[in-house]
Amino acid sequence: MSTILTINNLTKKYGLLTAVKNLSFTIEKGNVYGILGPNGSGKSTTLGIALNVVNKTSGDFKWFDGKVTTHNALKKVGAIIERPNFYPYMTAYKNLELVCKIKGIDTSKILEKLELVDLIERKDSKFQTFSLGMKQRLAIASALLNDPEILILDEPTNGLDPQGIHKIRALIQQIASNGTTILLASHLLDEVEKVCTHVVVLRKGEKLYSGRVDEMISSHGFFELKSEDSAKLITFLEAHPSINKTVKKDDMVTAFLKEPLSASEFNKQLFNSGIFLSHLIMRKESLEEQFLKLTDNPSA
Ligand code: ADP
Ligand code: MG
Repeated sequence: MSTILTINNLTKKYGLLTAVKNLSFTIEKGNVYGILGPNGSGKSTTLGIALNVVNKTSGDFKWFDGKVTTHNALKKVGAIIERPNFYPYMTAYKNLELVCKIKGIDTSKILEKLELVDLIERKDSKFQTFSLGMKQRLAIASALLNDPEILILDEPTNGLDPQGIHKIRALIQQIASNGTTILLASHLLDEVEKVCTHVVVLRKGEKLYSGRVDEMISSHGFFELKSEDSAKLITFLEAHPSINKTVKKDDMVTAFLKEPLSASEFNKQLFNSGIFLSHLIMRKESLEEQFLKLTDNPSA
């Protein structure tokens, strides 16, 4: 597997405020990464540092194998970190032509990219006649003109209507399926869940979780249990090979699973050990609950 971007103990301070704190993660080729966190959690700052538009306070990042300068590496990166801005009176096609001229790339890919973002029929329309979704798609076409190794998007669906959001998400998935690595920042959990294979969860500039999205979702759940003899119950749970952690609160005992176990099988095991339950519920946290717990818990 080849590495596109390595971020190592990155910190950014604005005066007394630490916007990004000791952040480390790696972007591998071919995956779709989401940086997920509430507003103000440091997503844009992190992207800005990697793209050389924000100065880091400390730490490191390196593009690709680290042997090229950031300046040269960024020629293989397509990024949209601001609202798409083109010349309003110029057509979509002419705007992209100008981008090619400025970046010194040839114009051979313009039609192909307009086709990809579904703007080919509007190629001769002025930019100012475009909806926000179309503007965003034109920006994506523009960022792809030189076939970058990675496409970076900051809150790509902000401000769009539901159809516009759907279209951008489908487009991102299509670009990823063509082999382009993607890194997007979003405060929307469902966006990351739908579009990304990997996630870095940030809160107040600190990484709370990073890993595969499906592994974040696939927690095995937990049992809520009550028994007259809760001491015996807890002893049993603590020795149980499928149980990770046991928490007692009032007369309710919560047992977290580290592997799948059905409620009926579990109940049978308890019964056979002479433990009788007055309450048994199996629950699973949704990704949303896990995310809210991660980002809202001040002691996390
Ligand atoms: P996000 O993109 O996750 O919403 P940002 O990276 O934009 O978060 O911001 C992280 C924190 O840094 C916020 O508290 C924000 O107010 C602060 N911040 C961002 N840019 C600046 C700046 N240029 N000067 C001072 N503070 C800033
Ligand atoms: Mg932001």
